[in-house]
Amino acid sequence: MYSSINSVAKPSRQSLHIHLVVSEEIERTLKRIGAAPGFAGDNGETRVLSDGSLLVGLGKRESINGLTMRTAGGKAIKALERMKARFAKVTFEEGTLAKDADRLAFGAQFGEGAGVANWQFATYRGSASTRKKVNGTLALGATDRDFATGLATGLRIAESVNYSRTIAATPPNICTPAWIASQAQKLARSHRMTCRVISYAEARRLGMGGLTAVGMGSEAKPCIVVLDWRPAKTGRGTRGAAKDVHLCLVGKTVTYDTGGYSLKVNNGMKGMKYDKCGGTAVLGAMHAIATAKLPVRVTALLPAAENMVSGDSYRPDDIITLFNGVTVEVTNTDAEGRLVLADALAWACKMLKPSHIVDMATLTGGVVVALGSWCAGLMCTDADLRGRVERSGQATGDRVWHLPLWTEHREHMRSQHADIINSNPSRLGHPLQGGAFLSYFVDEKVPWAHVDIAGVASVDGSTDVYTTPGPTGFGVKLLYDVARGFAVS
Ligand SMILES: [Zn+2]
Repeated sequence: MYSSINSVAKPSRQSLHIHLVVSEEIERTLKRIGAAPGFAGDNGETRVLSDGSLLVGLGKRESINGLTMRTAGGKAIKALERMKARFAKVTFEEGTLAKDADRLAFGAQFGEGAGVANWQFATYRGSASTRKKVNGTLALGATDRDFATGLATGLRIAESVNYSRTIAATPPNICTPAWIASQAQKLARSHRMTCRVISYAEARRLGMGGLTAVGMGSEAKPCIVVLDWRPAKTGRGTRGAAKDVHLCLVGKTVTYDTGGYSLKVNNGMKGMKYDKCGGTAVLGAMHAIATAKLPVRVTALLPAAENMVSGDSYRPDDIITLFNGVTVEVTNTDAEGRLVLADALAWACKMLKPSHIVDMATLTGGVVVALGSWCAGLMCTDADLRGRVERSGQATGDRVWHLPLWTEHREHMRSQHADIINSNPSRLGHPLQGGAFLSYFVDEKVPWAHVDIAGVASVDGSTDVYTTPGPTGFGVKLLYDVARGFAVS
C-alpha cells in the first residue's frame, strides 16, 4: 500500500508506463512493444515487461465499462505496489478505446479503483503482527488529458470512500455513539461544516422514544449527530434548482447490534459492527460533498445507538412514543434500526423542512435474501427522486434496485394495541417492512428515498474492486452523486 496516491497533471519523465490494452489488439500490441506472447489482455490481468513498464488488460473493447475500469485501476495499483513504483502514467495502446469513449469517466473509474484498492486497516495491528511496509507516495498521471482529469476526480472520491471504510471498520469497544460524534466534529472542523449533537438527555426531552429505547440499555448512551454543509454561495452563485434544494441524508448508525432481548444467535452477531454502515456512508458522502464544495445545501443526520442487553434495555411488548407522536409496539428488539431512523426522519421533517430526504441503512436481512450482495434495495414513491437515485447508482457502481411501497405494505405494520408494530412476525415481504415502517415518520409532501444496504455494506472475501475484505463504503459515491446531481440541475 501507498501512504497516498496523488494525481499529477504532468507526469514526470521517469514515470513508469501503465499500458492499458484490450484483448482484440493484444497480439499486435505485444509485437509492437517486443513482448513475449502469453498475455491475453483479460480484464484485470497484469504483466511487468522487461523494460519495467506494466501491461494491464481491460478485456474486450466493447465491454469496457465502469466495473472493468475500476478493476483495472485496482489491479494496476497492486502491481505498482509490488514494483515499488513512485511515478507512473497511464498510456493507451492504439485502438484501445473507441473513438467516442468517455475518457473523463474512464479516468475517474480507474482512479477510483486505484484509490479503493489502496486501503488497509492496520490501526489495531499489535506486537504479534509484522506490519506491511508502506511505500510512500505514488504520483499517478496519464498521457490523455481528459483521462488525467478524471483520474484526479476518481482518486479524490476514493479518499472519501476509504475514510468511510476506516470508521466502519473501527470496533464497537472504540466506536461508540460518542466516538462517532467526535469523528463528525473533527470532519466538520476540517471541512468548514457545522456539527451539533442531540444528546441522550435532549433526545429524551424531545420525546424521541425510538432512539432512547434502543440505546438506553447500553453504558454508551445514544445521540443524533447533525452535520451541516452550507455552500459559500447559495443564492447568486447557485444556478436554478439547487437554490431551493436542501437535501437531507439520514444514516442508521447502530454502533453495535446484539439484537437486544431478541438476541441474535452468536454467529449472527459477528460482524454487527457494520450495522453503522448507513451512517458511515453518510459521513463519507459529506466528506466528498465538502471536499468538492458542492453548491447545494446538505444536512446529514446520524442517529447513533448501541443495541445491548441490560436491566435498562427495552423489551418486546413495550409500547413507545416517537418524536412525531406515533406509537410503536415493539415486537422485536432486533428491528431497532428503523426506530432510531424514525426519530431522526421525523425530527428532520419538522425542524429542517428539507426539500428531499435520502436515508441509508443496513436495515433488513430480507433485502439480503432478495437482492444478495449485488445491489442495494431502493424504496421511493417520488418519480423524480427515484430516477436520480437510480441514475446515480448506475453511474457510480453503487447500484440499487427498486422495490414497492404501497398502502398494503403500510397496513401490514398495523398494531393491535398501538399505532404500528416495529416488525411483523410474518416474514412476508420482509425487506418492504423496513421502508413501510419508516414511511410513518416522513412528511408525505417531502420526496423521500430509502436505501437498504444490508447486503452490500461489507464483503467477507476480497473481490475485483474491494481487494481487502471488510467494509465497502457502499453508498458514499451514490449519495455524493445524488447531491452533485442537484448541484448541476
Ligand atoms: Zn437489529
